[in-house]
Amino acid sequence: MSEPISASDFDTDQEVRWCPSCGDYAVLAQLKQVLASLDIPRERFVFVSGIGCASRLPYYLNTYGFHTLPGRAAAVATGLKSARPDLSVWVITGDGDGCGHGLNHLLHAVRRNVDIKILLFNNEVHGLSKGQFSPTSRLGTRTRTSPNGSTERPLRPAELVLAAGATFVARTIDVDGEHLSATLRRAAGHRGTAFVEILQNCKIFNDGVFEYATDKATKFDHVLYLEHEQPLIFGKDRTKALVFRDWQPTVVSWHPGETFPDLPRHDERSARPTMAQVLAGMTAPDFPECLGVFRCVEAPTFHAAPLWDPAGEARGVEELFLVEDMWDVQV
Ligand code: SF4
Repeated sequence: MSEPISASDFDTDQEVRWCPSCGDYAVLAQLKQVLASLDIPRERFVFVSGIGCASRLPYYLNTYGFHTLPGRAAAVATGLKSARPDLSVWVITGDGDGCGHGLNHLLHAVRRNVDIKILLFNNEVHGLSKGQFSPTSRLGTRTRTSPNGSTERPLRPAELVLAAGATFVARTIDVDGEHLSATLRRAAGHRGTAFVEILQNCKIFNDGVFEYATDKATKFDHVLYLEHEQPLIFGKDRTKALVFRDWQPTVVSWHPGETFPDLPRHDERSARPTMAQVLAGMTAPDFPECLGVFRCVEAPTFHAAPLWDPAGEARGVEELFLVEDMWDVQV
């Protein structure tokens, strides 16, 4: 049992350089609370980031950290976790950094199931470089580099990592502290790559892009909160349900108390992520946007996967790297 720590123990003396009212503040605040609750000594945390506004986060956490190169956070984190499996390694990235410069590294970390947590702050714009459209910007998004509206189809980060075989995938939103905190807690407890997409408002360059999911008057008609083994019901009065017809998601009316024997239920433990991918790919306003855990399954982690030493004995990466006289082994 380590010394109890509080959220304020993660404060640093660094001046926070995010714009006033940026969604990053809310994420940082919840993250500190969650870290303090994990019973992990502060010096065992390492936060690794790439480029972008979110990637400044390691400066504002009193832990070890690396502000690496654009798109390279997942690669650095993979190496670090392989050499030091005793550390709790977190990647902080954004839609530009993680889905642009570093998409390949991110997908490879996910498919290897490296035991790291990846938090992708998705504000659907390049904030740090002053507001160009990003790989996740919606069609028609007007920015300085797309004055007539973006014509590129956006990537959906959660859908993408599910296709790469991610073992834990969730989506949450900056302004819902309770949901954000619960999601980060679940990610922290996952063994393997835990990928969390955080919808984050960029006050300066894309303000209000998630208003449909935050406005109290409308959000329940536009957001479906996923719950394991529960039917996919949403709406202000919970009068809408999601069903699948010919593999296509369809919204139907539903009345509380009514039973639909074929009403699909969310299964975050499904061996195949097919339905989770459909849920992660849905977008408002045609469909509700899903928040919650899409997938949570167990699988061997990268550093526990079998490798073979020169004698032909199966060993994990962890064991190979930690045995001193094996440092010259080519793996
Ligand atoms: S540019 Fe946007 S994402 Fe970056 S700090 Fe400002 S509000 Fe936040």
